[in-house]
Amino acid sequence: MSATDVITPSRLKPMPVSQPVELSPKPSLIGMTREEMGAALKEKGVADKQIKMRVSQLWNWIYVRGVSDFDAMANVSNDMREMLKTHFTIARPEIVEEQVSNDGTRKWLLRFPPRGAGRPVEVETVYIPEEGRGTLCISSQVGCSLTCSFCHTGTQRLVRNLTAEEILSQLLLARDRLGDFPDREAPQGTIMPAEGRKVSNIVMMGMGEPLYNFDSVKTALLIASDGDGLSLSKRRITLSTSGVVPEIYRTGEEIGVMLAISLHAVRDDLRDMLVPINKKYPLKELMDACRAYPGLSNARRITFEYVMLKGVNDSLEDAKGLIQLLKGIPAKINLIPFNPWPGTNYQCSDWEQIEKFADFINSAGYASPIRTPRGRDILAACGQLKSESERMRKTERLAFEAMMIANHGED
Ligand code: SAH
Ligand code: SF4
Repeated sequence: MSATDVITPSRLKPMPVSQPVELSPKPSLIGMTREEMGAALKEKGVADKQIKMRVSQLWNWIYVRGVSDFDAMANVSNDMREMLKTHFTIARPEIVEEQVSNDGTRKWLLRFPPRGAGRPVEVETVYIPEEGRGTLCISSQVGCSLTCSFCHTGTQRLVRNLTAEEILSQLLLARDRLGDFPDREAPQGTIMPAEGRKVSNIVMMGMGEPLYNFDSVKTALLIASDGDGLSLSKRRITLSTSGVVPEIYRTGEEIGVMLAISLHAVRDDLRDMLVPINKKYPLKELMDACRAYPGLSNARRITFEYVMLKGVNDSLEDAKGLIQLLKGIPAKINLIPFNPWPGTNYQCSDWEQIEKFADFINSAGYASPIRTPRGRDILAACGQLKSESERMRKTERLAFEAMMIANHGED
């Protein structure tokens, strides 16, 4: 299929609004660490000696059984359930829209309630079914503060970071919708076997730059990989960054998931244009950070993503440069045919050129799968996500941007 094929969208009817947005929602237990959950229960009067047991009960109901309603917690006493209902929530976000692509890819537009004085926000989450596996592409921010010139999300200003709860809720909601949690009637202790799961892998490749939201992404991914809960292997979780060099080491050390780098160019002058964060952290620094990534080995390689842009970065000279640049780094190369979006000036490289590029890389000893575009008809493919969420008021946005600059410097 060529990049410019017109595909008729197959839309499902919009989902019924099951959980109207509350104006001042109760705190959610989703996304709390065990310690935070324990402290929250203690504050509401749960006795010290009961806390550990209550936390593991709740953890099991929320993450193993996938319940979104305290009343379903059969082994929790009525009084305790009432207390939980009064003070907390485990509800899912509102599904504003669910679309299913011709190829089975699903995209959800989700609405999260306001935080503090903020407004409700909307993000997109995408599920890509494949032979024997299924990948959920999760968003980490509403919009993005970076402005990669080929990326649709980059045209939407950053509204705010997502909380750990909101990041995890994307996974819980997808598993709900795909039937990936045990039935309500299944006996206590039932776990979905890892092989049979619809969501077998997750990638932090939705909207936003995950390493500009490090703490929440870390909390969410540690909960997603917790062996007594959602139990996703860290080898099946990939975090993609445009190159926030100072956070790369910590990603390996503190989260321990697989790393993907949005490379897209092998010369600083071109990368400065395509991925402007390169002006702050140029290729040499980025490659040094990759070489130092904790746990890097031939069995745990870094994925380098390379979007194929016609006449921009797709020459055999570029392919040669790519091989040179990656010398000595255990690497996989992922060629991504450019996914067009309304208003872009870029075009996807011709298929013949993509194949030549891939052959060159293969002959240098790298596997270089070409990522089949998925869900293009519903704008669900890489870099096409953009929610029409309301923006922060200008003052809030300026304050937020000042905070990001204080933490990370000007990009
Ligand atoms: N912000 C992070 C993760 C999200 S983007 C990052 O940049 O790594 C996921 C991948 O899709 C990145 O490699 C990104 O560069 C790529 N991408 C963005 N726009 C694209 C487009 N229009 N076509 C193909 N890939 C795109
Ligand atoms: Fe942001 Fe990633 Fe898009 Fe760049 S490619 S604008 S970092 S989401």
